[in-house]
Amino acid sequence: MSDTALLTRKADFPGMVTADGAPWHYLDTAATAQKPSAVIDAMARALGEDYATVHRGVYSRSANMTLGYEAARRRVAEFIGAKSEDEVVFVRGATEGINLVAQSWGGANIGAGDRIMLSMLEHHSNIVPWQLLAERTGAQIDVCPLTEDGRIDLDALADMLTERHKLVALAHVSNVLGSKLDARRAAELAHGVGAKLLLDGCQAAPRMSLDLSALGCDFYVFSGHKLYGPTGIGVLWARDEILDGMPPWQGGGAMIDAVTFEGSTYAKPPQRFEAGTPMITEAIALHAAIDYIAAADIAALERHETALVAEARDALSRFNSVRLFGPEDSAGIVSFVMEGVHPHDLGTILDEENVAIRAGHHCAQPLMAHLGVPATARASFGLYSDADDIVALVRGIERTQKIFA
Ligand code: PMP
Repeated sequence: MSDTALLTRKADFPGMVTADGAPWHYLDTAATAQKPSAVIDAMARALGEDYATVHRGVYSRSANMTLGYEAARRRVAEFIGAKSEDEVVFVRGATEGINLVAQSWGGANIGAGDRIMLSMLEHHSNIVPWQLLAERTGAQIDVCPLTEDGRIDLDALADMLTERHKLVALAHVSNVLGSKLDARRAAELAHGVGAKLLLDGCQAAPRMSLDLSALGCDFYVFSGHKLYGPTGIGVLWARDEILDGMPPWQGGGAMIDAVTFEGSTYAKPPQRFEAGTPMITEAIALHAAIDYIAAADIAALERHETALVAEARDALSRFNSVRLFGPEDSAGIVSFVMEGVHPHDLGTILDEENVAIRAGHHCAQPLMAHLGVPATARASFGLYSDADDIVALVRGIERTQKIFA
């Protein structure tokens, strides 16, 4: 059963009602999560009475802002189980984090003839940066297949990996299928051939507790806006010894040690990777978001979403016209198609019922091609989701069925 303690938190989210005050059945948390008042208030304070720049000011408000920005880094480090806050690089989002790794680490460590292993279910953010790197360096990309039920097939991965593979980059949780990766096994397999493992944690960080030091991966990325925080901030975590060896990827203020026209020297990580004025207010609001979900208890959230996925899959499987994708134990995400109804039409009809689902390719076109569909409908849950949302979804599907009968 769903965790009722979490449900009382719905009132903390001002976005969870329609403009005329009716309940809004928001089932698109995998795209971006609604924000609790605690985050909105933290952002407003940081932009208002507390606002100043960081790192350079000698006046007290700037010094306080710097403390707030660095406290956010420490909070993230604690939340994800980093060894130290120096392993936490603030980036604009997961997309920027992966591009940073591809350009900096990839540029220094991947060359012609090397191979990069991805999987069939990756988000475009975890495909295109590697294609750009491969084009630049002459490296090759391999694609690990999926099991019947939509998991990354680690037995196939074991067979495919060679000493030429320098990097394995996989989604910790699929944004389309909700399938969870056995990250420890993936790390063992990657390390077995001397490759590094990057995990795209966009859909995992908001749904499961993380202990990155123990998980065995080498790089981890996620976006703040999917973690109940603001847009414009995300995290790249990497082991300190790896970050230490990585060259800068963008030049500018804040990332240097000393600059002359003869040449410049660079700051230590994480500052080396944070050129320019950083996302100050966003980092402070991300801190508030992490405090909020930690107080809600991420283990309870995981149980809550597991229960909702089971309930939704059960309800949807009663429709003969509905085809469900992904494994039974998906994390917070249910993808499906309705025979004879384009997901966009379904999404439009559901919108009339104040039900917001996602319809499209979910930035995973290779996966759509593999599934043999142009698009899917996707319902995804968060800590404010409840059984009423599933009832409203089912009501909308029944109406759609009548319209298209
Ligand atoms: N990877 C996955 C699995 C995602 O779900 C998303 C967001 N849809 C991204 C990467 C990209 O995240 P962002 O757009 O916040 O950089």
